Amino acid sequence: MAELPTFEHTPVDDIPAIAARVRSSFLSHKTRPLEFRIQQLRKLYWALKDNEALVTEACKRDLGKSSFETYLVEISWCMNDCVWMANNIPRFAKDEKPADIALSNQLMGPRIRKDPLGTALIIGAYNVPFRLSLGPLIGAIAAGCTAILKPSESAPHAAVVLAKIVAELDPSCYTVVQGAIPETTTLLDQKWDKIFYTGSETVGVIIAKKAAQTLTPLTLELGGKNPAIITRNANITLAARRLLWAKTLNAGQICLSQNCTFIDREVVPAFIQELKNTLNEFYPGGARQSPDYGRIVNQKQFQRLKQMLDTSSGKIVVGGTMDESDLFIEPTVVEVNDINDSLVSNESFGPLLPIFPVTDLDEAIKIANEVDDTPLGTYAFGNKKEMEQILSQTRSGGASLNDGFFHGSVPNLPFGGIGSSGQGAYHGKASFEAFTHRRSITTTPAWIDRMLDVRYPPYSLKKKQK
Ligand code: NAD
Repeated sequence: MAELPTFEHTPVDDIPAIAARVRSSFLSHKTRPLEFRIQQLRKLYWALKDNEALVTEACKRDLGKSSFETYLVEISWCMNDCVWMANNIPRFAKDEKPADIALSNQLMGPRIRKDPLGTALIIGAYNVPFRLSLGPLIGAIAAGCTAILKPSESAPHAAVVLAKIVAELDPSCYTVVQGAIPETTTLLDQKWDKIFYTGSETVGVIIAKKAAQTLTPLTLELGGKNPAIITRNANITLAARRLLWAKTLNAGQICLSQNCTFIDREVVPAFIQELKNTLNEFYPGGARQSPDYGRIVNQKQFQRLKQMLDTSSGKIVVGGTMDESDLFIEPTVVEVNDINDSLVSNESFGPLLPIFPVTDLDEAIKIANEVDDTPLGTYAFGNKKEMEQILSQTRSGGASLNDGFFHGSVPNLPFGGIGSSGQGAYHGKASFEAFTHRRSITTTPAWIDRMLDVRYPPYSLKKKQK
């Protein structure tokens, strides 16, 4: 078993000096050269590679994640992102020529420079602790920012491994601050040029208020009550398989997982049967015994989920067992029919799968919009026309047709929320842009002054007529 360092909070009194150091490194222009950024991304790649065993062990201890899932979702994603970003920095950082510039203005060589925003604070969530922290950091490095990373204290093993990995980079430019609310509050009291936050909507509001006081640009990656909609024309076997996967990965602790499935009444029995079949296929000896099924991160989240299920007026049709001592919650399907049910009106962020029978697609869309009209994701299963209707009558950060959150795993698609599920985006080029200022530049040649004469006082009617 890999040896993990111990989690310790960063002393609150040390935080201002740490932030000042990272800021002064930015002001020394050290991160401006592209070679420096590429070198840091390469270091990050190798730090991940060298610490693969520790990353796997940390995810196992914090979330009971299987090593395959950790490799797929955390390690390989971040390593690929380092390589892809390092290869693309020269292209992204290149000046851009704006289109549709009048001939007279073209003489001033208008262009858009890609300047780093400055010093960034990145606050991570616990559920995908490496990807959700290192993903934004990769964008910050690529853009030429310096950064402090504040991982979630709810995944303490991952947090210490993250610190070990980031320590392989230039320590004057990138570092980790460990802690919970007091440390994050102190961090938020420092001066930042960008704040990138991933987590709950409630805390997102606190962060946004803080950022507003200093007009600091902000990306918010939040959660939502993501609907899945299944019509009577959908492929029910496929819908069950894909949605069950989306809700059992990381034991449902995925911001993009569907929260409630609105399904045509006619196909409910077939859908429940397919969910049962698929569960047996995924976990032949039961989820509890399977090395592929995770655990709830801590007691607080376990009790929250238990309470959601206990207070639901729905009927459990699959699963329902829990074990507090092991933080285990079985994938649990509940048939509900009340929009105010605890499983519908709250984000579960766990392996609870409410299904809500509806009369037709119009009703499904109406209820889904009433529950949350700006979720992070929408998942549509039906024929082409129906899926198009779902897209054109709902809003969400992103959407996957015929799948659960596939769009979130395409590296170059911008990923982010809308309204209450967040603002701004990252992944691929969007990660670079999230930490970049588009600076408009012109260069006025000396010889052109005769043409510009008209702008200088003293003004006269004669000039107006020129
Ligand atoms: P959380 O909001 O409890 O914690 C996230 C971070 O905020 C942590 O680093 C934590 O230390 C910090 N924090 C907590 N309370 C704070 C406070 N009062 N002041 C300042 N900082 C504070 O979120 P979580 O429990 O880690 O994650 C679950 C939520 O995050 C869900 O709603 C989920 O949908 C969302 N999420 C969104 C994404 C996304 O990419 N959009 C990804 C993962 C999780």
